[in-house]
Amino acid sequence: MTMPPIKRVLLKLSGEVLMGDQQFGIDPAFVMELAREVKAAQAGGLEICLVIGGGNIFRGMAGAAQGMDRAQADYMGMLATVMNALAMQSALEQLGVPTRVQSAIEMDKVCEPVIRRRAERHLEKGRVVIFAAGVGAPYFTTDSGAALRAAEMRCDALLKGTSVDGVYDSDPKKNTQAKRYDTVSYDRVLADNLRVMDASAVALCRDNAIPIVVFSIREKGNLARVLAGEGVQTIVGA
Ligand code: UDP
Repeated sequence: MTMPPIKRVLLKLSGEVLMGDQQFGIDPAFVMELAREVKAAQAGGLEICLVIGGGNIFRGMAGAAQGMDRAQADYMGMLATVMNALAMQSALEQLGVPTRVQSAIEMDKVCEPVIRRRAERHLEKGRVVIFAAGVGAPYFTTDSGAALRAAEMRCDALLKGTSVDGVYDSDPKKNTQAKRYDTVSYDRVLADNLRVMDASAVALCRDNAIPIVVFSIREKGNLARVLAGEGVQTIVGA
């Protein structure tokens, strides 16, 4: 299993990486660091779609666990992803990278709605497109949103930048003997319930033959290393 040549990529960043070393919310300095990595990748000729989670601000499941209506809490989570998208847009534009945010929940005062053809045009013009609000429906996550947009935009790969450096056979935070996979199949991920992305996102990638690359975005320069095939990562494929 090897990485295909990548011309267009969907980069999914977990909300928690936007916290930097904080416990909650957005660390603008760290968002700027991330934006620098995105800018460097784009300067290398890549077309970039971005999806950012919302877990640094609100997760529907956490709200539901405290007695909130699940769907209502999920909508709050989706709104959190829009805030993160705007923070990243601001950082990218400060670096001179033209960026558009498209939200699956329409809010025309702050961003565009998701329109695939318009997103195509943005990419052709060298803009980064940030897709916010996941799939726009409760009971989903931004991982599913990322898989959906990767398929819709015909991305060559879905890069999941998170706090861990790949996919392990057990939780590396709990088990010091946990082994990281260099490559692993979609079916193994689903059968063993490995913590990569939620099952619907993995299945969508499998059905559309989109490789998933899991890597740590916390280390500086890692996005470039992963794109060059030199990073520590796990590739999930057929
Ligand atoms: N969410 C949702 N539908 C979607 C995408 C997100 O309901 O299509 C909600 C859900 O409550 C989720 C929250 O938004 O917990 C934040 O997204 P996610 O947990 O995927 O963020 P991440 O873990 O990547 O930071």
